[in-house]
Formats: sequence, C-alpha cells, structure tokens
Amino acid sequence: MWALAIHGGAGSARDDGLDSAREQAIGEALAAALARGAKALANGVSSLDVVEQAVRALEDSPLFNAGRGAVFNSRGEHELEASIMSGRTMAAGAVAAVSGIANPVTLARWVMERTPHVFLQGDGALAFAESQGIRLEPPEYFYTAQRSEALAAARRAVSTAEEHGTVGAVALDLAGDLSAATSTGGMTNKLPGRIADSSIIGAGTFASNASCAVSCTGHGEFFIRATVARDIAAMVEYAGKDVEAAARFVIEQRLASLGGQGGVIAVDRSGRVTCVFNTELMYRGIVTARITPQVGIFADA
Ligand code: ASP
Repeated sequence: MWALAIHGGAGSARDDGLDSAREQAIGEALAAALARGAKALANGVSSLDVVEQAVRALEDSPLFNAGRGAVFNSRGEHELEASIMSGRTMAAGAVAAVSGIANPVTLARWVMERTPHVFLQGDGALAFAESQGIRLEPPEYFYTAQRSEALAAARRAVSTAEEHGTVGAVALDLAGDLSAATSTGGMTNKLPGRIADSSIIGAGTFASNASCAVSCTGHGEFFIRATVARDIAAMVEYAGKDVEAAARFVIEQRLASLGGQGGVIAVDRSGRVTCVFNTELMYRGIVTARITPQVGIFADA
C-alpha cells in the first residue's frame, strides 16, 4: 500500500481572492504534484523523498504561500519556514525566519540529515544554507502582485482578510514508512521574527510509524498552543483512535474551542488518508494505491 495527501492552505475564498482562473490554476498545480508523487510512490520511492518533492513543487509555484509565492511581513520582506519528519526514524528538521531560500523544505531536510540539530533559524540557518550550496533567489523572485496588494491593504487597515496559506504533504510508502513536510511564508503583515506552527515539530508537522503523519495549515498561533499535529498522532498511538476520528476531534473540538481555524491532512500506516478543516475551503489532493487522484477545494468537493 502507498498513499499521498497534499495541501495548499486553508481559508476563505474572499481572503484568498479566489476566482475561477485562480481556482483552475490551483487545481492544476495540485493535480500535477499529486501525479508526480503517486508515480514515485508506486515505483518504491521513499515517503521522505516524496513529501519533500511534493512540497518543493508547491514552493516553486507562485500560487501558494510558501517559497516563491510567500506573503510579505510588516517590513515588506519574506521570512520563510518549513519542517520535515521521518516516521521511520523520527528524525526531524526545521528552519524558520529565513529569506532568499527557494525551497525551505529542502533546507529543513538538510538540517535533519547534515547537522546534529533539529531546528535552525535566521542568520544561522542562512549561513548553513549557503555553506551547503542551496538555491538562493533575490527578493524579486518572491514578489507576487497578489501578496503585495494584500500587504498594502493590511497596512492601510482596510482589509480584515487573513492572507495566509501553507503547503504540506504526508505520505506512506511501499516499505510502510510515513513522512510529513510543511512549508509556509506565514501571515501577511506579520512582525519580523514571528514563527508559525509550520516549522514547529508537533504543532504543524509530525510523523511516526507508531501512529500517523500529519501536516497542518491555519492560524499558527492556535496550532502551536493546541499542539495539533502531535495531539492527532497521540490519540492514534495511545488511545487507539482511527486517524480520521483523531483529526476531527483535534480540529473540530480542541482547536475550535480555542477559536482557531485551519485544517490538517493525515495518513496512517494502513494508508487511510484524511483531510479535516473548519474553514470555508482547503486546497487539497489525495491519491493512494486504491483511490484515484482527487483534488478538492470546498467542503463538498
Ligand atoms: N500556519 C501558517 C501561519 O500561521 C499559515 C497557514 O497555514 O495558513 O503562518
């Protein structure tokens, strides 16, 4: 059995400026990442490689708030973050508050594999990235008109829209190993130095072969305090809950009781995939050895 789920963020159509052209482009980008990942998993590629590649593909797209399409902070800059975790070894890597990195998820993987640490941020993360020869891009690469307009509106305080988003992937491979990865630009107009759940192991990302792999998206301040990813895995591991029931409980009851909004994708060792969100929409895609590729945006899709 193999399985893959990906997401491109959760929110509302209005906040995300979703029109039919954008909807179609997002659907196509998700479908392409899904198809590539499905082929790799069917060919025996590891879940760790597949979640990294899927997140890289979404980071390279200007449509999603990660990598190239990242939102601006209050200084008009981009500060990116990402994390990755192997369920087989429970090794993890994360980076935060980095600028100019085209693919933060790959930097997170390098932190995991090439340093004795789990989490690097800021200047130190950048110095490590440069020492390893990562792909760097100038600020213009990360410029999109949509994100620039969102910052201008936030600064004028004419918009209450919460411009955010995130990308993520969870996978089960033929060897029975689970992995998860998440990457984001954070929230529009955030204070410099602000870190989301997306780079925090246990909040936005978690994977263990003893339970499941989870990637989150939503208002990070709530996901951090609710330790969403780890809570879902803990319910599966310690309470024997089904991954779907665990995800529903944590998003619909625990997160919601704090006032938090967002969603998760998760997969367990049997290849059971779930996607739960309490927002109007969540950009997402699922494919398994038994389920043909499905891309969805709204709750009923
Ligand atoms: N979790 C991200 C953050 O708080 C944003 C998102 O997933 O929409 O910055």
